[in-house]
Amino acid sequence: MSQFSYKAGVLHAEDAALSAIAEQFGTPTYVYSKAALLANFAAYADACQGRDALVCYAMKANSNLAILDLLARQGAGFDIVSGGELKRVLAAGGDPQKVIFSGVGKSVEEMRLALSHDILCFNVESIPELHRLNEVAGSMGKKARISLRVNPNVDAKTHPYIATGLKANKFGVAFDDALATYRTAAQLPHLDVAGIDCHIGSQLLDDAPLLEALDRLIELIDQLSAEGIELHHLDIGGGIGIDYRVEGEKAPVPVGDYLGRLFAKIDAWRTARHNGKGIKVIFEPGRSIVGDAGVLLTKVEFIKHGEEKNFCIVDAAMNDMARPALYEAWMDMQPVVQRDVATASYDIVGPICESGDWLARDRSLAVEAGDLLVMHTAGAYGMTMASNYNTRGRAAEVIVDGTVPHLVRQREKAEDLYALESVLK
Ligand SMILES: *Cc1c(COP(=O)(O)O)cnc(C)c1O
Repeated sequence: MSQFSYKAGVLHAEDAALSAIAEQFGTPTYVYSKAALLANFAAYADACQGRDALVCYAMKANSNLAILDLLARQGAGFDIVSGGELKRVLAAGGDPQKVIFSGVGKSVEEMRLALSHDILCFNVESIPELHRLNEVAGSMGKKARISLRVNPNVDAKTHPYIATGLKANKFGVAFDDALATYRTAAQLPHLDVAGIDCHIGSQLLDDAPLLEALDRLIELIDQLSAEGIELHHLDIGGGIGIDYRVEGEKAPVPVGDYLGRLFAKIDAWRTARHNGKGIKVIFEPGRSIVGDAGVLLTKVEFIKHGEEKNFCIVDAAMNDMARPALYEAWMDMQPVVQRDVATASYDIVGPICESGDWLARDRSLAVEAGDLLVMHTAGAYGMTMASNYNTRGRAAEVIVDGTVPHLVRQREKAEDLYALESVLK
């Protein structure tokens, strides 16, 4: 059930009118529904009920402290990709012992920070990284728990920029090199070989590629076990897609169905080959937790009739939401107030001086200057990819709980943007 729906002709987030939110906080503003966020997390938590499983929210999708706090209270762990993200987890009161650290370029400082907080696991992506982590842990008198991010060479059938599990991608250790790399890791004195992980891509509408990746991880776990290297956890990554409301596109697999099939496969395997002894399962969902829990609220500045196209110029831009410019992503746009004005086809564009600055193309809308629009399904990879291009302060963020909108990030002011700069003496 969407938490964003029309009530008496006005689009609401839960029970708060988006028109009132625009009036109170201005535009552009990201508006999230607390109920949607919690329901999305519950879909994972419910399917994991009674199992040795951990849901580590991939916070690069949306790292607002209020969102981290809400999820941490539900028992979420976090998948981080930088030291900065770890500091956000700590600032939000999250448990560092439920943190896993992914990414191909972890610096010495980031490793030190993560080790000092005794994080659950480093997802290591290369042999040089193994050696660096071993050295850093040794210098601190610690042992680092690691898993290897294996590249299962499965085609996730998604956009090339968000497919990560193919041989040509920069991520992970090649499947054929995995055994040798584990042997190397097992020899290093300051590493504790704990698990295996993969992350094959994002916005997967079907779970078949994920289950195929699972088969490949199982193969490796058994081979390692035969060599006396016992893994304690299996991390299948994130990647489940969400419904961007694209006409004619099939609906994404429900999270509960996917997890049901995944656990059935794991249970059958453990029964057949490990005397029923379980293995901890870790998930790293990002988009499927926050994506449909948020919208981007924006105001129409001008309507411009060009020679070939009509433009609806809004106050949100590619610096606020990069997905269309970056991946040609299709995002659904709707007016906040349903009005009885002429419908026309528009390209919805921002004020930035780039032709790539568009949010949506060829959309039929009944709008006039001064109206409000929302971009749906904007909760993931929206605010976290925002920039200050054109010296535009980043949008405000609001979380709605029932009828009450809570401001969880103030709109940036121009002075904030150059506060760290100085002129030559
Ligand atoms: C981005 C990322 C995720 C989250 O992916 P979603 O498609 O948002 O679920 C999980 N794991 C890793 C390693 C990632 O880089």
